[in-house]
Amino acid sequence: MVGPTHRMFGALAGATYGSVTGQHWTGMAVMALAASATSNGPFSPDMDQTGPWQKLSKSTRLVGVRGWFRHRHGLSHWWALPFIAWWGVGLLPPETQWAVITIHALIIGWASHLLGDLIFGELSLFPWGGPSWGIGLKTDGILESGKFGWFTLPFGPTRVAIAVALVAVFWLNPSMPTIPIPDLITAAKETL
Ligand SMILES: [Zn+2]
Repeated sequence: MVGPTHRMFGALAGATYGSVTGQHWTGMAVMALAASATSNGPFSPDMDQTGPWQKLSKSTRLVGVRGWFRHRHGLSHWWALPFIAWWGVGLLPPETQWAVITIHALIIGWASHLLGDLIFGELSLFPWGGPSWGIGLKTDGILESGKFGWFTLPFGPTRVAIAVALVAVFWLNPSMPTIPIPDLITAAKETL
């Protein structure tokens, strides 16, 4: 999965988590933003493409841990990492519960990146590589971003589906304000 799709998928995952944990729609929006922040870019599993990560990879090459730093198949793309983080957050004292839900949204954003890479690509079983598995749809292909050789659809079908789902998650939340029908329209209908 490529950047823009990761961001959208992260926002959807954050908003959905906000909805199922009973947040107000404004809280859902905050969680969508938080999850989107960790779903792509330097604070996501793709941190394995940043300069500091590559420097670290070079300086540790002698110790034989190179696999841990490989893009998409190293530590930052390891599926177990979000589970460990989630478990760790569960150990925080009860006074910090206000922070827990936000940290959860950040972990969900991170996990959504991994899920995206698993659907549009493959991930490795171990943090140093090993056997890899995924649904293996083409990254940045016709299904994801609408690209098919020289031909490009205006919108990738996957992105349209994510956008529709995101609107639906907010729309279906009971806290969403309903649009009031102005009295003028009601009055106009009655006179007809
Ligand atoms: Zn990735």
